[in-house]
Amino acid sequence: MENYEILVIGGGPAAITIAKILGKKKMVGVIRPEDHSMIYCAMPYAIEGIVGMEKTLKSDSLVTDAGAKLIRDKVSSVDFEKKTVLTEGGKAIGYEKLVIATGSDPFLPPIEGNDYKGVHVFKSEHDLKQMNEAVKGKKLEKAVVVGAGAIGVELALALQQCGLETHIVDMADSVLPNLLDPDMAGPAEEQLAKAGLTLHLGQKTEKIIGDGKAEKVALDNGEVIDLTGENSSYGIVAFSVGMRAGVEIFRETKLEIGRTGIVIDNKMRTNIPDVYAMGDCAQFVSGITGEISEGKLATNAVPMARMFAKNILGAGREYKGFFNGAATRVGDVFVGGTGLSEQAARGKYNVVTGVAELTTTFPIMPEAKPVKMKMVADADTMRVLGAQVVSGSPVADKIDTITLAIQNELTVNDLTEFSYSAQPYQSFFPANNLIVACAEEILSKTGE
Ligand SMILES: Cc1cc2nc3c(=O)[nH]c(=O)nc-3n(C[C@H](O)[C@H](O)[C@H](O)COP(=O)(O)OP(=O)(O)OC[C@H]3O[C@@H](n4cnc5c(N)ncnc54)[C@H](O)[C@@H]3O)c2cc1C
Repeated sequence: MENYEILVIGGGPAAITIAKILGKKKMVGVIRPEDHSMIYCAMPYAIEGIVGMEKTLKSDSLVTDAGAKLIRDKVSSVDFEKKTVLTEGGKAIGYEKLVIATGSDPFLPPIEGNDYKGVHVFKSEHDLKQMNEAVKGKKLEKAVVVGAGAIGVELALALQQCGLETHIVDMADSVLPNLLDPDMAGPAEEQLAKAGLTLHLGQKTEKIIGDGKAEKVALDNGEVIDLTGENSSYGIVAFSVGMRAGVEIFRETKLEIGRTGIVIDNKMRTNIPDVYAMGDCAQFVSGITGEISEGKLATNAVPMARMFAKNILGAGREYKGFFNGAATRVGDVFVGGTGLSEQAARGKYNVVTGVAELTTTFPIMPEAKPVKMKMVADADTMRVLGAQVVSGSPVADKIDTITLAIQNELTVNDLTEFSYSAQPYQSFFPANNLIVACAEEILSKTGE
């Protein structure tokens, strides 16, 4: 029987990170079933044709050149007593330490018609190929994307760009509800309308109507979206309504599983000795509230895996939790959010917000574009809880700066003393800075 010091179930960012750090230092095995690991973030752009389909596929050499053994198989069960995994291919593989990095699967709501032709989810290489074939080959004319989160919005824009009349449906009253408060979502919604998309916000998808294929989508307000066209008898319904931890093979075992995934401590240890979990399959808390939090992002999976691997090599690092900084692009507008939105913070904190609007460069420069930031803080402690940015230029640097402030429990007062740089092409005049301006507005509201 093959035996590994570290055996990883998974092939996503968490597994690859472990292979890269430990592959040459330990006997590492990585088991995953699919032909290719994916650059998921680029999938909508492959549909749109901005990057080739092949560019979304990661090379196996990321794992094998790092010195780890890649085992192309699917784990069917784990015997935690005998420290052995069994695979669908009939193998038994032993481990000293097991890492569960089985990721997550897209949630398909249990509604009528969810198995009809034309209904898709969007995560795997298979999903991408199916969607691409439907868009490019079948001459479908209309699409509904259910879910106005970042993936849903990116996919909807891609479908519209491919010539399909595209609708977005979401129960929330504004788009990108996990990133932006409603008062910050306007520019993104305007961009979607400008691109020709139709928004159905504050509405739930009730069922898909058709004779085995997606002909219509019925919403709970009685509205029916017709997906048939002049030359097509059905259309696309793409669900992008969240991910569920990939934990099915562990349901009947002693492994503790919570509401959002496998329960772990701050060193990624599960309740079973020598068994660790990380990434999308794991449940952890917000680094701000300490409450169980959604955090199914590659930017959470990678740090968890890096921390685990460094600890195996002797470090004593502890994971603090999810802060969930994330960003996307909607047409000409770049948006991002980190920490808690005002909506998420209300009810938990004595919330105070500050808003600032400047330009991305010196306003006299020809490239100057508007940029707006909203900061969320706790008026009792003045701790920074979150921020959102909407801009004509990329926002990830601003989001990451605020994430760092939140991670280090900085206060609004600290941010008024933020020492920034300024240059005509890259920032507003030295006279002002977005972060400082938000912080000052909060202080003026709280009378400090
Ligand atoms: C379209 C899209 C866009 C995204 N964009 C972003 C973004 O911009 N920024 C960001 O931070 N995050 C983004 N994400 C989320 C990000 O991709 C995930 O958070 C990340 O992939 C999680 O990594 P992971 O290693 O935990 O799991 P996954 O990447 O889900 O990988 C899980 C792996 O486990 C394997 N596996 C599962 N069960 C078994 C089994 N029984 N046996 C063997 N192998 C198994 C799977 O086949 C897979 O290889 C996006 C996701 C999607 C779908």
